[in-house]
Amino acid sequence: MANSSNLTTDVVVIGAGVVGLAVANQLSERCRVVIIEKNLKFGQEASSRNSEVIHSGIYYPIDSSKTKLCLRGRELAYDFCSRNKVPHVKCGKYVVAIHAEEENYLLNLREHAKGVGVDCKWISSSELNLREPLIRAQAALFFPESGILDSHQLMSRLEDHLIKQEAIIAYGHKVIDGEFMGDGWSLKYLTTDGRIEELNCKFVVNCGGFGSAGLYNLLLGGERFEHRICCGRYFNLNSKYQNKFSSLVYPVPNVDGLGIHVTRDLDGMVRLGPDVEWSNFSGYQNIEKALQVDWDSLQLKFFDFVKEYVPSLIVEDLSPGFVGVRPKLFDSGRAQKDFVIEKSKNSFHLLGIESPGLTASLAIAEEIVKFLS
Ligand SMILES: Cc1cc2nc3c(=O)[nH]c(=O)nc-3n(C[C@H](O)[C@H](O)[C@H](O)COP(=O)(O)OP(=O)(O)OC[C@H]3O[C@@H](n4cnc5c(N)ncnc54)[C@H](O)[C@@H]3O)c2cc1C
Repeated sequence: MANSSNLTTDVVVIGAGVVGLAVANQLSERCRVVIIEKNLKFGQEASSRNSEVIHSGIYYPIDSSKTKLCLRGRELAYDFCSRNKVPHVKCGKYVVAIHAEEENYLLNLREHAKGVGVDCKWISSSELNLREPLIRAQAALFFPESGILDSHQLMSRLEDHLIKQEAIIAYGHKVIDGEFMGDGWSLKYLTTDGRIEELNCKFVVNCGGFGSAGLYNLLLGGERFEHRICCGRYFNLNSKYQNKFSSLVYPVPNVDGLGIHVTRDLDGMVRLGPDVEWSNFSGYQNIEKALQVDWDSLQLKFFDFVKEYVPSLIVEDLSPGFVGVRPKLFDSGRAQKDFVIEKSKNSFHLLGIESPGLTASLAIAEEIVKFLS
């Protein structure tokens, strides 16, 4: 990577979610890096409001970036977590056919998993009952490579590495404008005390999560990309369910996404969700509105759905959890289903980084390093 003396730094990474931290971490082994993050700490947005699942990579088209980056990211995530003492467990995951007619979906998923190179095992109803006594289903596929991790610890270790590698992390600073100068960028950012300052760099990597579409338009002009808000809400199950599920349990996907699933955290506490709730709004200014939830009526929807495969559930077992926001990408008004990495004028833009973005984060970082090498 070129090192020009009249530039303040080599690369500015915008955003300190898990993706920005992972990208900055790998780049900082090779060049000078500054991360600019508008919040006062890392991971205050999508990266701390998700299921913390290390996905196996079975749900996306075989040749998609999601599949490729999820498979590689999973391998890197387990390796990073082991080497850096980030709590994690490869607990596996079941996809269950609640009704007999859903078994065809499992057969197709098994073929797809084989094509992608992901291990899985057919589990009969009686075997499932022995393994997960609270689950009732006709059959299931078990994916042993799925797991869970502590996303806060993952980000914290990435931040430690960045500090050791002398990268600069500017929290409480928001990128508000930028100009391409022919061989690099001059970025304007707003500081916590309301000053506007400038930083010159050779390359920009836009890891702004939900904000990355707006940043793309701001830096490169036009209105090409838009992220629409699609919320995922969760309920917690009370402590009588602690350690009652050894693995993650997903129904077969429906038109609304993966279906409300049962995930556990590293303490064995159980969460239901997320669901899929499209908002009529887009843009950061509307996120607060989208986060308002009528938890009482939603409780019944979740209960009805999950009771089908966890029959012992009673409605009082559920208490409100949290809401995550998926950045659903639209390119010139057309919905995009895959991750998009746009490159233009010494800048890289990570767009539509919804699930499995946590799993894929370290692999996304590798891609960016390849582009810049
Ligand atoms: C409900 C839900 C469940 C999910 N479950 C999983 C899962 O189980 N497994 C999995 O692999 N993935 C999951 N994901 C996806 C995963 O959480 C995301 O893909 C990942 O966290 C995205 O990280 P990010 O760094 O791109 O975005 P973010 O974490 O949102 O970070 C972007 C950062 O950019 C900053 N920023 C934005 N604009 C500016 C600006 N102008 N100036 C400075 N800073 C700026 C923001 O403040 C933010 O900190 C889930 C997502 C959701 C919503």
